Amino acid sequence: MSIEIVQRNLLNILEAISDAVTSSSATQRCRLVAVSKTKPAELIESCYTQGQRHFGENYVQELEEKSAVLAQKCQEIRWHFIGQVQSNKIGKICNSPGIWCVETVETEKHARLFDKEWSKYGATSSPLRVFVQVNTSEEENKGGIRISEAPKLAEFIRKECMNLKFDGFMTIGSFDNSHSSGVNPDFEKLFNVRQQWAEQIGEAAESVELSMGMSDDFLQAIHQGSTSVRVGSKLFGAREYKNK
Ligand SMILES: *Cc1c(COP(=O)(O)O)cnc(C)c1O
Repeated sequence: MSIEIVQRNLLNILEAISDAVTSSSATQRCRLVAVSKTKPAELIESCYTQGQRHFGENYVQELEEKSAVLAQKCQEIRWHFIGQVQSNKIGKICNSPGIWCVETVETEKHARLFDKEWSKYGATSSPLRVFVQVNTSEEENKGGIRISEAPKLAEFIRKECMNLKFDGFMTIGSFDNSHSSGVNPDFEKLFNVRQQWAEQIGEAAESVELSMGMSDDFLQAIHQGSTSVRVGSKLFGAREYKNK
C-alpha cells in the first residue's frame, strides 16, 4: 500500500475515532495504536510524520528490528508490545528503544520478569506500562488470564512490581463477537472487570485504561468504553505472510 493511501487512512481513522468518542457516553478519550506488524518501517515513519506516536507490534523480532531502525528518526515513538509473551524474550522487549507499554501480561511470572528486566534496561526512565490481558471470550486458543483472576494480577503488579505501572485491561475477544452487530459481550466483560477493579481499589474507573477494538470493531469498542484501539489492516492494508 502506498504512503499516500496509508496517510489518508490514518486521517480517516482518527476522525472516525474522534466522532465515536464524541457520541459515546462510555468514554471521554481514545488513543489509536497503529498496529504495524508485517509492515515496513517506511510506512510507520509516514504515519509518524503525520503526528501518530503509538505503534503496536506482536512479534519480538519485528519490534527489535523496527524500533532500532526508527530510533533516531522517530524519537517520540511509543511502542506497544501486543503479542504473546515468552519468558526468554522479555529482555529483548525491554531493550527495544521506545518501548512504552506491554499490553499482554497474563501471569505473575511474566510480570515479575518484566519488573526485573526493566530495572536493568529502563532504570533511568519512567516505569514500563503494562496491561493485563483478559481472555473474555474464554476460548482455549486465546491469550489472557481468566476474568476471575484478572483483578488479582492487576493488584500484584500494583503492589509488587515497582518498575511497572499497571495501566489497565486489554482483550481481543472472539472473532464471531467482533463480526456481529450490536453490543459485544467480550467488551462488556472487560468493561465490568475494570468497574469491579476500580471499586476494589477505590479509584475512578475512568483512570484505568481499556484496550479493546481492532479494525473491524473499533467504533463499537469505543461505544463500549475503549480508551485505546489497536488498528492494523484498516490503516496499513491486509497483511501478507510469507511462508517460513
Ligand atoms: C494484529 C492485531 C491487531 C490488529 O488487527 P487488525 O484487525 O488488522 O486491525 C490488534 N490487536 C492484536 C493483539 C493483534 O495481534
